[in-house]
Amino acid sequence: RESLYAECRAKPARTRDGFSVRVDVNSGDKESIETFNADECDGVGLFRTEFLYMGQKDYPSEEFQFEVYRGMAEKAGGKELIIRTLDIGGDKQLDYMDLPKESNPFLGFRAIRICLSRPELFQTQLRAILRAGVYGNVKIMFPMIVNLEELLQAKSQLEAAKRELDGRQIAYRRDIPVGIMVETPAAVLLSDILAKHVSFFSIGSNDLIQYTTATDRMNEKVQYLYDSCNLSVLRSIRMVCRNAHANGVQVGICGETASEPRLIPLWCALGVDELSVAPPLVGRTKYIVGQVSKKEMEERTEKLLASGSIPEAKQELSGILGELG
Ligand code: PEP
Ligand code: MG
Repeated sequence: RESLYAECRAKPARTRDGFSVRVDVNSGDKESIETFNADECDGVGLFRTEFLYMGQKDYPSEEFQFEVYRGMAEKAGGKELIIRTLDIGGDKQLDYMDLPKESNPFLGFRAIRICLSRPELFQTQLRAILRAGVYGNVKIMFPMIVNLEELLQAKSQLEAAKRELDGRQIAYRRDIPVGIMVETPAAVLLSDILAKHVSFFSIGSNDLIQYTTATDRMNEKVQYLYDSCNLSVLRSIRMVCRNAHANGVQVGICGETASEPRLIPLWCALGVDELSVAPPLVGRTKYIVGQVSKKEMEERTEKLLASGSIPEAKQELSGILGELG
């Protein structure tokens, strides 16, 4: 098996009936940057930037961030590099930021909420990303969006960052593609509207499962409910895919479920354009994609999502994976 997977790693993944799925990697710490090899994936589908803020005594400067993003963009060559703006808060805290203690941090002051309320912090990062855009196929992604207003505010901040760079006469990528993480039920239900304002969606299933099933992703006691096969989650993902494609928007998945073997046939059926996975799982993910017939899976997927029973859905999904070989 391992050698079959290794063979698939460097080749484009296509279903048996010819539909392409890009398989990217998730990255976002020193080690994953050092070991990143663009020849063994289709790009970076999620570049988490929290690590730049975490191992520090103070906020990272524009130059420091720019060097890291540029290095990664150059390593990626022409392949896509989706840089996610700061997603701090929730489970990730920073001493120097002086954030309030909260009783429900995952429902609190985190991610885009912090960035929109601290324009200097946000602008510094946006300028660094814009500048790195000159050195590769860089895209920018906003996390934790729950309404259109947040997205529009974030985009207007991006325009302000461009004006600042214009003023300083520093080179940057003017037409940088903008996308959002779809990781809240709010974003799922608004995906038809949000799609009109972005060039891609990336489904953050780690948080989407948490928020859809009202199950803290860190709480051991309720992990039995934190289930990627909860049909509410799968139906949400179907809705996002439909709304994305109806608007010509690309859709990816960058949570852990992107590489869950029994769900990969489903992702193919739903027309997911890109899966972003842990680097060691690229080969296996591409291999499974190559075994699937999208057309055959479409009908089975509709039946499965109508069944309402999680155990039945899991049994059916395992059966399908078994048939693929
Ligand atoms: C997610 O929520 O699925 C995701 C990829 O982001 P993170 O795990 O960093 O919250
Ligand atoms: Mg998330």
